[in-house]
Amino acid sequence: MVNEPEIVDVVVVGGGGAGLAAAVSAAQNRASVCVLEKQDRVGGSTNLSVGSFSASGTRFQARKGIQDRPEDYAEDMVKFDSKLLTGDAPAMRLLLARESAETLHWLESVGVAFTGPFLEPPHRLARMHNVIPNSRAYTARLQTTARRLGARIITGAKDTELITEGERVVGVRAAVDGEKREYRARFNDAERRLRRQRLRRALAAWLIIAVATGACILGVRWVLGQ
Ligand SMILES: Cc1cc2nc3c(=O)[nH]c(=O)nc-3n(C[C@H](O)[C@H](O)[C@H](O)COP(=O)(O)OP(=O)(O)OC[C@H]3O[C@@H](n4cnc5c(N)ncnc54)[C@H](O)[C@@H]3O)c2cc1C
Repeated sequence: MVNEPEIVDVVVVGGGGAGLAAAVSAAQNRASVCVLEKQDRVGGSTNLSVGSFSASGTRFQARKGIQDRPEDYAEDMVKFDSKLLTGDAPAMRLLLARESAETLHWLESVGVAFTGPFLEPPHRLARMHNVIPNSRAYTARLQTTARRLGARIITGAKDTELITEGERVVGVRAAVDGEKREYRARFNDAERRLRRQRLRRALAAWLIIAVATGACILGVRWVLGQ
């Protein structure tokens, strides 16, 4: 038997680094979020990793006078062992490189600390930023932030399956505490709310510019009138 579905804006399946980052980002944008993790604790392979974060254009590089470009970073990635490049997608590589510095700075904003950058050949420049004290810091800080922002993190969620309506995925079914439960995503509403939020910001910016321009014109007329 399936209980009443829980309805949230965003359902995230998997509480590793990627899932928790998605949860925090959605919650920061005022979406209600639910994370379903099949293990008894979050962390996944992120907690087993070394935790190095390669990025270009970071404040750490700037502090050492290193001038870097995402395009060069994307180019250097190809120089690693070609066997690792199965399914290489140049556009994704460039996207990763372009977003790398902002992502690292965003991680810092939620409390993840880094040291570096260090050289990591075949990278031509020092781009390797290492998390302090170890990779568990990613999921620990992200989990704390996600909870603080109101996200629900459910561990021990087994046998997850997608709920579809036509071709659309609308939620997830999972066994939690021995009971089948449904988590429905209200993503259309969330998307609409984000669009409204952006429109409000654009209108506010336009209003500020209009008022400032008006004040300047009045000021100039007043000075000329003296
Ligand atoms: C030894 C090692 C060292 C590494 N070192 C680095 C490094 O220095 N730098 C680097 O950039 N990368 C490194 N990596 C790679 C990096 O760790 C991974 O790419 C990254 O952690 C993947 O994050 P993720 O969130 O996608 O997956 P994970 O962190 O594995 O998270 C996935 C989560 O989803 C859960 N899950 C899966 N299926 C379901 C389901 N059906 N229902 C519910 N939950 C589910 C899992 O239990 C898990 O918790 C390393 C990897 C290893 C193994």
